[in-house]
Amino acid sequence: MADERVALVTGGTRGIGLAVARRLAADGLAVAISGRNDGSIRDGLERLRKDVPSGRFAGRAADARSEADQHALIDWTSETFGRLDVLVNNAGVGEFDSVEKLEPERFRSVVETNLLGPYYATHFAVPLMKKSGGGFVVNIGSLAAVNAFAGGSAYNASKFGLLGFSEAAMLDLRHQGIRVATILPGSVATEFGHSHGDRDHAWMLSAADVAEAVADLIRFPDRAIASRIDLRPSRPPKR
Ligand code: NDP
Repeated sequence: MADERVALVTGGTRGIGLAVARRLAADGLAVAISGRNDGSIRDGLERLRKDVPSGRFAGRAADARSEADQHALIDWTSETFGRLDVLVNNAGVGEFDSVEKLEPERFRSVVETNLLGPYYATHFAVPLMKKSGGGFVVNIGSLAAVNAFAGGSAYNASKFGLLGFSEAAMLDLRHQGIRVATILPGSVATEFGHSHGDRDHAWMLSAADVAEAVADLIRFPDRAIASRIDLRPSRPPKR
């Protein structure tokens, strides 16, 4: 039976976000995606329509760093499909360098995209979810939210922050029927931070694995919130 729910996946133009959009559409949800520019949105929608011909899709450029863009994105999603039930805060970037070399602009961009973006989107989505009787916010964190590493000051700060935001929001919103969860994946074979063509990706998680976790989360019985999933590759290289 078709799922009448409507999902918005930020950063749904490629990688994990595209896989999540594809998976939710295959389950029958209408899916809106965002990204930074019209060209990547067009490419993402083209792939989605090819992969899930029965899917209902829409896309809009919206910078995760911009409060105004996120507000407009949330309102547009609900106007386009009539409601909003599932928000997947996935858009993210990484800048990896020692704190001394990491210029303020790069640091700011990571924190604004990975932490402020999910806050803006959640903040503006909550009233719409309340209108339809509840909903889900799924934040794509990272194991970098619990494991700091050298060169990760911006990325770690953004993902540690996102986990804290997510857990507090879960406590705020559960009484209103809105369940907030964070998925913390280990290394996923996407373009993100793995641009060196010679690396062996076979052991890594695939974007579809993360999408499966999102699909599972939003099928959970009403009574329960799986508020955090640590998703690890089963066979990483032995150290
Ligand atoms: P990709 O680089 O493949 O995709 C990133 C997505 O985010 C694109 O759709 C991009 O859209 C979008 N995006 C980036 N910046 C912005 C912005 N300012 N506004 C709107 N959209 C933006 O990354 P992944 O799919 O690998 O990563 C997705 C999420 O998963 C991130 O939050 C990342 O931190 C997290 N993650 C990734 C892991 C990995 O190993 N790959 C591991 C753990 C977590 P466009 O280019 O069209 O603007």
